[in-house]
Formats: sequence, structure tokens, C-alpha cells
Amino acid sequence: MRVLVVLLALSGCCLAQLSVKMPGDIVLGGLFPVHEKGEKSPCGAKVYNRGVQRLEAMMFAVDKINADKTLLPTIRLGVNILDTCSRDTYALNRSLEFIRGSLNNLDVSAFECNDRRPPRIRSNSTGPVFGVVGGSYSSVSLQVANLLRLFHIPQISPASTAKALSDKSRFDYFARTVPPDTFQAIALVDIVKSLNWSYVSTVYSEGSYGEYGIEVFHREAQERNVCIAAAEKVPSAADERVFETILGKLLKKQNAKGVVLFTRAEDARGLLNASKRMQTSLHWIASDGWGKQQKLVESLEEVAEGAITVELQSEHMPGFDEYMMSLTPDNNHRNPWFDEYWQDTFSCILPQYMNAEDVDQEICSMDLRLSEKVGYEQESKVQFVVDAVYAFAYALHNLHRDLCRPKDKVCPAMATYDGGDFYRNYLLNVAFKDLGNSEVKFDSQGDGLARYDILNYQKLPNTSGYHYKVVGKWFHSLELNIDELVWNRGSDVIPTSACSLPCAVGMIKMQQGDTCCWICDKCEDYEFVYDEFTCRDCGPGRWPYPDKLSCFDLPLQYMRWDSLFAIVPAAISCLGIILTMGVVILFIRNNDTPIVSTSLDYLDFSFAFLP
Ligand code: GLU
Repeated sequence: MRVLVVLLALSGCCLAQLSVKMPGDIVLGGLFPVHEKGEKSPCGAKVYNRGVQRLEAMMFAVDKINADKTLLPTIRLGVNILDTCSRDTYALNRSLEFIRGSLNNLDVSAFECNDRRPPRIRSNSTGPVFGVVGGSYSSVSLQVANLLRLFHIPQISPASTAKALSDKSRFDYFARTVPPDTFQAIALVDIVKSLNWSYVSTVYSEGSYGEYGIEVFHREAQERNVCIAAAEKVPSAADERVFETILGKLLKKQNAKGVVLFTRAEDARGLLNASKRMQTSLHWIASDGWGKQQKLVESLEEVAEGAITVELQSEHMPGFDEYMMSLTPDNNHRNPWFDEYWQDTFSCILPQYMNAEDVDQEICSMDLRLSEKVGYEQESKVQFVVDAVYAFAYALHNLHRDLCRPKDKVCPAMATYDGGDFYRNYLLNVAFKDLGNSEVKFDSQGDGLARYDILNYQKLPNTSGYHYKVVGKWFHSLELNIDELVWNRGSDVIPTSACSLPCAVGMIKMQQGDTCCWICDKCEDYEFVYDEFTCRDCGPGRWPYPDKLSCFDLPLQYMRWDSLFAIVPAAISCLGIILTMGVVILFIRNNDTPIVSTSLDYLDFSFAFLP
């Protein structure tokens, strides 16, 4: 296997530069992350399951449209699909290929043929790229959109969700079959709130996807009283050490057990790897960069267990699985990366790549087929790729109906139709039901509908395997089945992620820095809790209730004459009065005796000293 990886790494540069070319009357460009980003070179050695499936989804959709007698009946769609290697700069370089020959998308009034007639497209030409399906990472789409708009080439992304791409003053040729991340960020805050978490850390990837996404998350979280313990950015060239440093910083915030990830897939994996090495147990809540990818968590199942991830809600594309399962390296010659994908999926080597050092390698058997048994699962954004291709097809169909005669192929008016007008007048106005019967249309910003699935990465019952279980959905608001959630090591107790625990009855908060962090202080016995930060005296004759939230008047108790408490003191005081009266009478009667006059003199003397 190592030899195979080295071989692929060496060939990475050249394999990535290949393309899928299929001639047609109208050619659609495609940009997919077939390879992962490389560390030293632009392209990594590993093929990316997501990218290969999306590329095949485009081919699948084009095949279906070409076979359809009602949609674009006279026009054959062709493709020119390139690998972006999940990197914006590399994708930009490769996209130059799309604009080569695109001059007829510009104003052709500046050109004329030798015989002074206006130029027209050759009937046997594959033509320039009319529109582009892609990219996946927002940073890629953003870069490429800047280039394509200069050449009036409309673009539909099936995966780029960065909010910035909705800005039509900058990306006026860009549309997408997916929604902007504003909604995804709100969905993530909704999840955090529904778990009663008030203190979380965040990790985001450098670039438009992570940075814009986390910005909305932070803003929404603060508005809804969720504090951010630490916010860590993963630089685009992050290595193991960087991930360990980031994890170290997260661990310093001991009470922020929940970590929200707005990262690219490889960054999420880097973090999980570091978490495995450092044996930590944090609780992950992740955006669609992680989504429901099996490859991302391969051999990291234990640290990923319990993760809650968000993925764009999509329907299973009927027919696509059968299409994928029918492909083999022998029959799929149009995809130059399929052999790599095959070898990676089955961990074997195809005989044609075998050389002397590979003797201990397992050779791929001729009987191998993609199936659920070998872990094949339809990628979650396949639907959006197919929808993007169909959106182009429907828009082109309408353009052809308006500009050409029914029997025409691409008539000159259509070939020279301005891409900007096509985008505004045709592409944004398409509305159709896709192969999975979902409605597809764009809003005025060229964005798709915001619906998400909420998944929980759990162990499968009675097996050693894991899977992503759908535990909720988000469409304007969150519906989450909290009882179905499973956390680290299979626990079903919702973990706490709060800087300080709520104060007990009769205690107030003494804020410590962050609004979510405090220590609790007890009010005096006669005080009540006025607000979460203040104790107040109940006042005279009043006492706090047991919940210490307010006070009541102390009751005045009247004594009853027939009670022992009244009879005993009354009897004693009557006795005292009688004795005093007796003494007075005795004194009056015997006032001329020496003992009485001495007592009275003594009384006088005592009064003289009174103040
Ligand atoms: N939504 C991510 C982005 O905009 C891409 C995720 C994917 O490729 O599935 O960068």
C-alpha cells in the first residue's frame, strides 16, 4: 500500500492535471475536488470520495439529458471536468482552460470573417464552455467566480455555501443549488441552545467557508446568550503540530466541553487525529464540511462518536447508485481518476500499475464491484450536482426555444447569447422537479432552499460499526430528538458545556470576566434575590419566602384569654398588682412609723440620683 501511495503522490501533479472531456454542441465545465489538498504540492495523493462521486454525478446527469428526447432534443451536451485538488489557487489556474476559446462569449461585433461576414461557430466544434458546475469548497467557487464573470460564464455550485457568494454585486454570474451558510450557522446555534449549552469553543478553517460561517455563528450565539470560550482558526497549511496546539487551547477552557466546527473536511479530520493522539474527549458539533462523510472518521470512530453534524438535506438520486455500481476500471475510461478511486476503495492495486516492488500488494480482482457491502454510500450532495446540470439544461432548452428553430442545433443567436443575460433571464428563472421529485429553483440571489438534516455519529447496535443517524432536521426551526442522541462512549446523558453552573436558591452571581462565567454568593437570611446579581433586604416586619425570590409580611399573633400563655402571665401580673397595692395601703396606714418614713427618705435619696 505504501508503494502505491508513493506512486500516487509522485504522479499526483500529473494525474490531477488530467480532465474529463466529452465533446458536445454545448460544453459544460465541471470543477470537483477529486484529490485532497497536498501538503507540499498543490494536490494530495489521496482521491476524495466526495469529489469522485460528484464528478460521476455530473456525467450521470449529462448522460440522462443527452438520452432525453424532450429536454434539449437537438443539442448534445459535452463536458470538460477538472480537478480542483480542493485548493482555490490551483482551481483558478486550472479554470483558465475554461476561458480559452470563450471569446465568442464576448462581443463578437469586433470580429469578422475574410469575406466580411460575421463569424459563427463551427458546426463540429465542441465550442467553448457555456457554463460551469462547481466548485465545492466556497474558497474555490469564490476564486473561480471572479474569473468566470470576466468572461460572462455562468456558474452553478452544488456545494459552496459561504454567505459571501450571495452578494450579487460581486458574484453576478454565480448561482447555487444549496443555501447560504447564514441558515446553517443559525441551525448550529439552535442545536447548542437545545442542549442547554451556554459556553462553547469554536474551530474554523481559514477561507471564506469557515470564516464567514463562524462569523454568523458567533453573532447569533452572542445574541442568544451563548458565550464563546475560545475561537481557533485552522490555517490552510496546518500540520499535526498546529492541530495539537489548537486542541491544547481548547482543553484549557475546561468547562467548554462542546466544540463547534466550521471547517473543511481535512481540518475536521486533523482535529480528530490530534484528539486521538492526545486522548481527549470533547463533544463535536460540526457543519456540512464534515457532514456525513465516512472517510473522514475512518479509524477515528471512537473520538468522533457522539458528534452531531449538519448536512444539507438531500434526496437519494434514483438511478445513481446503479450507475456507480455498474462502473469498473474496464468500462469507465472517460474518468481518468477512476483507477485511483478503485484502488483506494478496495485497497488493492490494478495490474497495469504493478511494478517490481509491488509483489506483496493485493491485485484487484476482476469481480470487484462497488456495493453497500464495501462501504459505498451515495454522497450527500450528489442531488445538488445533478440539479445544477439539469438547471443548465432547462435554461438552455428555454433559450433554444426562444432563439432557434426547433430543428436547429445551436443557432448563431444562441451561441453568441450573452452569459449575463442567460444567467438573469433564463438560469435564475428555471423551476423544475428533479429526478428525486424535489423542487428546484433559485431565489433572487441565486441561492437554493435551506433545509438541513441533523446527524449523530453513533455505534451500530450489536456490531462494532458506526453510522450517522438522522436525529433531527432544520427548516426555519430545529426539530431535534434529544432522546435519540448518543454521546462519547455510548453515553446517553447530555453533557454540560457551561462556564459556571446556575446558582442555588438564595444565591446571586458575581460575574467573572465573560458573561457566562460567575461565582455564586449567598444572600443574608433576611434578604431576597432581587435579580441574578443583587440581594435586597425584605424590610421591617417582612421575611423572604423559601424560594428567596420575594418577601412576605410577618404575621401579628393575638393572644387568647383562655390560652395558658395568657392566663399564667395575667395571673402573675395580677398578683404583682395586688401585692403592690397592699404595700401602698400599708405605707399610707402606717406613714408615721419610723420604718415607713426611713423608707420614704431612702426613696427620695434614690430619686435625687436619677438623671
Ligand atoms: N459547504 C462547504 C463549502 O462551502 C463545502 C462542503 C462540501 O464540499 O460538501 O466550502
